[in-house]
Amino acid sequence: MVNANVETVQFGSMPIQFSVEFRRRKHIGITVKPDLSVHVAAPEGTPLSDVRARVKRRGPWILRQIDRFQQYRPAPTPRQYLNGETHRYLGRQYRLKIVAGDEPRVRLVGRYVEVVANQPKVVTEVRGLVEGWYRAHARAIFEKRLEVRLSGLRGFAGLNPPLLVRRLKTRWGSCSKAGRVLLNTELVQAPVECIDYVIVHELCHLKLPDHSPAFFRLLARCMPDWRRRKEKLESIRL
Ligand SMILES: [Zn+2]
Repeated sequence: MVNANVETVQFGSMPIQFSVEFRRRKHIGITVKPDLSVHVAAPEGTPLSDVRARVKRRGPWILRQIDRFQQYRPAPTPRQYLNGETHRYLGRQYRLKIVAGDEPRVRLVGRYVEVVANQPKVVTEVRGLVEGWYRAHARAIFEKRLEVRLSGLRGFAGLNPPLLVRRLKTRWGSCSKAGRVLLNTELVQAPVECIDYVIVHELCHLKLPDHSPAFFRLLARCMPDWRRRKEKLESIRL
């Protein structure tokens, strides 16, 4: 790369950082990569102020691209369901403690997820118990947060979207055309403020299905600090 330098422009409350490369070409081109980096290629001799103005003007498009890539979360580390393994619940870390017992169950004890299993060495049994526990808690918590959030939103009165909780590979949640909210079971590992962000994002889709600028205006009205919550969510390695 020749003459690449990193610049930042402020777009609303959002700083957009990008690299600029000057080379032989006719027009200014902007690319957003899946790693969320922004690259600008500009014709040689273009004043930097022109490049910055262009990036600023394309701000809504750039943020939409970044948002689109952020929808996809990295694959979680595979779990092995062994003693001492770290598991997350509502943003806190717990260690797995597997003990033998006649009445299989899972519960939180201090900083441990305690699993009582008939056969503690049989990974499939332990996994089944832990996953079942997560599923049940995910549903209960999501239902409650959906209710809390919905009641606090202006202009959403009378809406009562059905909630579906599933393990999803690539998304935190979605909202169907029929107005059904689908949330990823794994989201229960994140702090409540991040769960709320995904819920409010999906609730906004009840009004606007796309990721248009109008959608993000609605989202910002419903949750002014949504970007902070989203960044927090994306920074968590599950
Ligand atoms: Zn969305």
